[in-house]
Amino acid sequence: VDFDRALERAAALRRSNQRPPVTPEANRCLACSLAPVCLPEEERLARDPAWDTVRLFPADPDRLVLHIVENGHRVSRARERITVWNQIGEKIADHPAEQVAQVVVHGNAQVTTQVLALCMAKDIQVHWLSPGGRYLGATTCGSGGVQRRLRQYEALAQPALRLGLARRLVGTKIRDQVRHLLRATRGDGPRPAVSEEAIAAMRVALARVPAAQSSDELMGLEGEAAARYWSRFDGLLIDEVDPLWRFRGRSRRPPRDACNALLSFAYQLLYRDVVAAILAVGLEPSLGFHHQARSQAYPLAEDVMELFRVPLVDLPVVASLNRRQWTVAHATDCGPGGWLLSDLGRRQAIEMYERRKAESWKHPVTGYSLTYARLIELEVRLLEKEYTGSAGLFARRNLR
Ligand code: SF4
Repeated sequence: VDFDRALERAAALRRSNQRPPVTPEANRCLACSLAPVCLPEEERLARDPAWDTVRLFPADPDRLVLHIVENGHRVSRARERITVWNQIGEKIADHPAEQVAQVVVHGNAQVTTQVLALCMAKDIQVHWLSPGGRYLGATTCGSGGVQRRLRQYEALAQPALRLGLARRLVGTKIRDQVRHLLRATRGDGPRPAVSEEAIAAMRVALARVPAAQSSDELMGLEGEAAARYWSRFDGLLIDEVDPLWRFRGRSRRPPRDACNALLSFAYQLLYRDVVAAILAVGLEPSLGFHHQARSQAYPLAEDVMELFRVPLVDLPVVASLNRRQWTVAHATDCGPGGWLLSDLGRRQAIEMYERRKAESWKHPVTGYSLTYARLIELEVRLLEKEYTGSAGLFARRNLR
């Protein structure tokens, strides 16, 4: 009878698009290979805030991201390895496919069909960016995660759930911006009055987030806070920064100065990482809970990247500008096309961004440390849990 009941239960689970509940026997999860996907400890913590979480989610990425930056570079396959050659036929990189998570092609490098086939077979994402750094798309394999997408569609049909997620997202973003201004303007003397005024206005917007009744209202609050934030951004730079790299207001499509070219390029790197995480988790990037489809960009990626703009881009950009690492050789004025980073600038921006991603950070809610690179995927997985009605940890992190 027990066997029949177990069979019935297994068949019902197979028919359902809901995932089975997390086991109450926590010890079982310690050796379970599904733990990084299932996130049982995080779910227990969400149910019981006093739960002492064990980190079962890997702290570091186990595979690397291979950036192909220069036009004319060629990526080829030798057995199960991915090899990169420069314009004069010298080998400049060579990695076993197992060690590669993503190949990112910036501009007009050549990638052989043999490499693409290998990437498909090994579940390696290939991402394509234009020479100017605009994200073009990804070549990925399979259509996995169908059950997750079904749960995502069902969840997004619930306006209250969407609004709750959007409030948390916008709250985290504005809080990050406030903390960035507070931290960067902390010094011996009093904070300049203009900074105090901007921070006060941003706090007013932040306080109104929990009562916002629609995504449009949240966008309005986000816009008010962003206007104040960007109005003080140049004040975060020291006087010695090269005038070429000073910030003169946020401009996009095209960036009107070198600083905006750097910010836009770095945001595209972040966008790509978020798309990669969404695809790896198996969610549909075209369906966001806050942003609407108004451009070619994936709304869900635009949603999730709001969590990381300040820690992964704004903070390292300000720090590297203040270290005076950017010179006339790192950006080019393309006239009506706006400013672009040079090859040298793109390489330096990628190094800056990847270094920041590799830094460890302690999650204030789960209490364990992990790299920002892994945190992006963790947030997407926590979001996926929200779609199943479990947990509640998405967008709960704070800027350190
Ligand atoms: S990690 Fe998830 S699937 Fe694995 S034993 Fe724990 S609850 Fe079950």
